[in-house]
Amino acid sequence: MRFYSTQDPNYKVSFKSALFHSISPYGGLYMPETIPKFDKRFLELLPEYSFPEIGQKIASLFLSDNIESTKIKNLVDKSFDFDAPLVSLNDQIHVLELWHGPTLAFKDFGARFMAQLMSYFVEYSSEPIQILVATSGDTGSAIANSFLGVDGIKVSVLYPKNRVSKIQEQQFTTLGKNITAYEVEGSFDDCQKLVKAAFLDRELNESLKLTSANSINIGRLIPQIFYYVSAFSQLNKKGNIIISVPSGNFGNLTAGIIAMKMGLPIRKFIASTNINKIIPEYLKSGHFSPEPSIQTISNAMDVGNPSNFERLLDIFNHSQDKMKNKINGYFFSDEETKSSMRYIHSEFNYIVDPHGAVGFSGLTKYLTSINSGTGIFLGTAHPAKFFDIVKNTINIDVNIPERLASFMKNKKQSVLLSNSFDEFKNCLLERGK
Ligand SMILES: *Cc1c(COP(=O)(O)O)cnc(C)c1O
Repeated sequence: MRFYSTQDPNYKVSFKSALFHSISPYGGLYMPETIPKFDKRFLELLPEYSFPEIGQKIASLFLSDNIESTKIKNLVDKSFDFDAPLVSLNDQIHVLELWHGPTLAFKDFGARFMAQLMSYFVEYSSEPIQILVATSGDTGSAIANSFLGVDGIKVSVLYPKNRVSKIQEQQFTTLGKNITAYEVEGSFDDCQKLVKAAFLDRELNESLKLTSANSINIGRLIPQIFYYVSAFSQLNKKGNIIISVPSGNFGNLTAGIIAMKMGLPIRKFIASTNINKIIPEYLKSGHFSPEPSIQTISNAMDVGNPSNFERLLDIFNHSQDKMKNKINGYFFSDEETKSSMRYIHSEFNYIVDPHGAVGFSGLTKYLTSINSGTGIFLGTAHPAKFFDIVKNTINIDVNIPERLASFMKNKKQSVLLSNSFDEFKNCLLERGK
């Protein structure tokens, strides 16, 4: 299977090229040439499959002519030594816990599989591959930890100063080795701009082998399909499921839409955002108007120009009507998010992080509007990653899992950057060799 650019469907590249280049030369995102369909038997047999088995079958549908099947199995097994349990709050509301991986957020799914893919394809030469990644909090840690110590690969993480939680920051600034953290005076969008500018800069690309690891990378999108299928299997209902996805850059929701296009019987997706409501606004008005991002308590979703909108447009043939038919959008203020955190705790004795709470809010708003239905919201981060917010909101000290606590003991190392591209470029050129 080849992969085409959303900017030009006739521009097609191999999977390897899409994986290492992330964006097409003219700025499009890569999409699979065809969206494979699940056969009926696969869906019927689902309850018998483990999470890695589901992953292998799906990955094979996309990658079997690029990677032999025993290798695919190997890559999936190495990536997922954790799974995605579905927890029922009541008969109608279920949460898919996506935070059982090493950095306790759903980004581990995409990052670990992409890291395995890249180390599978990387050709050892004297020149390392330079992975650039902008993070609003969780991507940085998932990517950095997935690539830590991998030969032939160096990682630069750019994050907005003072806009990620302490625990998030510790997870990518304390690693050392092949990981460099850049602390940018600005927002996540500024970080994303610096990364995009680097890819378009001729001089940089001539001297360094740059590659991206943001949620635009197709290598991260494919593994995110796995857990939608697993959720369906665990719910064990015939269909008509509603899934609410707390969203920022919209990679997660795009993967869900692809799962649906492959034949997973999902009735509706809810695009739940914080006050950075670009896509809910688009669904309402038909206008896509990126804005500077606004800081919120669900900081990993503070995205003012969601990259994967381009993929969504492509999937829905640039039709707002078609998109609206499958996706409802809602946005919530921080006060509403906190109020959901309190409600979930008092009503179900369950602790949810602020991102999951946005997902819950979207799901319940929709279920109320249709008066029935069964839904799943995605729990995208462990509540301990947002210890202070959880404490201030429901007055509980969340237990900090050991794998998270260990990050807090180490010393932060980061390179301070203004949001000027020249400064970043010089740093890369200096440190890149
Ligand atoms: C990244 C992230 C999101 C948003 O996911 P997108 O794929 O960017 O929409 C939601 N919650 C958490 C905890 C995240 O880290």
